[in-house]
Amino acid sequence: MAGRILIADSTATNRIVLKVKLAAARYQTVQAVSGSEALAIARATRPDLVIIDAHLAECGGACLCARLKADPETRAIPVLVIDGAPSQKARLAALRAGADDYLAKPLDEPSLLALVRALMRTRATHDELARRQNTAEALGFAEPVATFTRQAQVTLIAPAAETALGWRRALGARHPAQFATSTRTQALDAIGASDASDAFVIAADLARHGDGIGLVSELRSRGATRHAVIIILDEANAPGTVAMALDIGASAVVSGSFDAEEIAIRLETLLARKNEADMLRNRLDERLGLALRDPLTGLYNRRYGNAYLDRMITGAAKTGQPFALMLLDLDRFKTVNDSFGHVVGDEVLIEAGKRLGENLREIDLLARYGGEEFVIALPETGLEGAQIAAERLRRVIGETPICLATQGVEVPVTVSIGVAVYAGGAQGDTLPTPQNLIEQADAALYASKSDGRNLVTFAGGRAA
Ligand code: GH3
Ligand code: MG
Ligand code: MG
Repeated sequence: MAGRILIADSTATNRIVLKVKLAAARYQTVQAVSGSEALAIARATRPDLVIIDAHLAECGGACLCARLKADPETRAIPVLVIDGAPSQKARLAALRAGADDYLAKPLDEPSLLALVRALMRTRATHDELARRQNTAEALGFAEPVATFTRQAQVTLIAPAAETALGWRRALGARHPAQFATSTRTQALDAIGASDASDAFVIAADLARHGDGIGLVSELRSRGATRHAVIIILDEANAPGTVAMALDIGASAVVSGSFDAEEIAIRLETLLARKNEADMLRNRLDERLGLALRDPLTGLYNRRYGNAYLDRMITGAAKTGQPFALMLLDLDRFKTVNDSFGHVVGDEVLIEAGKRLGENLREIDLLARYGGEEFVIALPETGLEGAQIAAERLRRVIGETPICLATQGVEVPVTVSIGVAVYAGGAQGDTLPTPQNLIEQADAALYASKSDGRNLVTFAGGRAA
């Protein structure tokens, strides 16, 4: 998922070097030479990320960062500060001003790109939650009262118990959260509990090299800690650690020896962001209640799916980003009911919905569109991304029969998929209406059915 990045740097060669690196990774860039120009561009165009040189003219990196974070129009945009004359003091000043991260020059390209990817993901999740919120508002679901924020729980996992206790003392003096220490195994055992921690600070190397990073994927794969803040401490400063940890799902990587001040500031920023996202998620669930959910599968219903589609298209009209829409229909589902009974049919629908949901990004929207029909909206997705996603979904349904232990049966089922893609374009282009898009996807779905089922077809005849 590429995106737009604003580069704020007063030196032309720096801007060009960065632009080339980012263009190679397919990001679009806009440039600003001063603090005031950067602020004006950020307000007008809402880039997905701002990269600021610490020594920017007029208003240095930390100063511009503080101004961006103080403005409601721009505060959700992630900020990365880069510094050609780096120091721990400058790093702390940038982080304190609200920077999401700080990188010293010369830039390590894998770390830079991993950070850009991670910050873009955060931004996309935030925007998506906000869009769902707006969709709910547009459908007339009123604002509930503000959510109470409790004291954050933070778990510290170090190679040795004494080290973790030392961290706890140092952090406890600087941050109001409740800190607990834990071993790798204890942390994993505790994950299932409903009172899982809000944040984890984990050494990259615990008993073995890199096993702390392995813990990140464990935490991300469990429901209770999926959205937790995870900070990895890379004391060995090993090459590749930053990129690996971020790509696996760490919220931030702090390299070098333990600095309680830096960790405390990062916890502050990351926990605030997590709280905001949690609040949006909770509010949304409260608001939507049952009215916009399908009671059988718990997925969004058709009404919500349609309203969401309107929003996605309106959003894309502003950004020129591509998007895709899929219609999925289970094959010969009548036979499933006829052979196994309606109760089993219901369970198969629930399980199929679950499999689809688990194989989508958080920003994709899945709704039950009717009987055995699902609709999936994929923002910021072009033809290639849609092909990969559709093929993956076709396989996750068809490859393994749905096993219903309670009913003692295994039900083989396949799905036919029709996909319509809007390839993206310039601002002001005419976009398809939701109705157009559904009709295109529906015609493609019909083609998948008549060509033999268990197939993906793209509108316009491009079979995948
Ligand atoms: P095709 O491959 O052409 O899609 O064949 P099909 O049998 O899936 O299509 P058809 O539209 O003829 O039948 C859809 C079936 O889905 C009929 C209906 O009973 C079943 N169905 C729809 N909603 C539910 C439900 O909520 N629970 C159960 N158990 N079955 C459902
Ligand atoms: Mg059908
Ligand atoms: Mg069907």
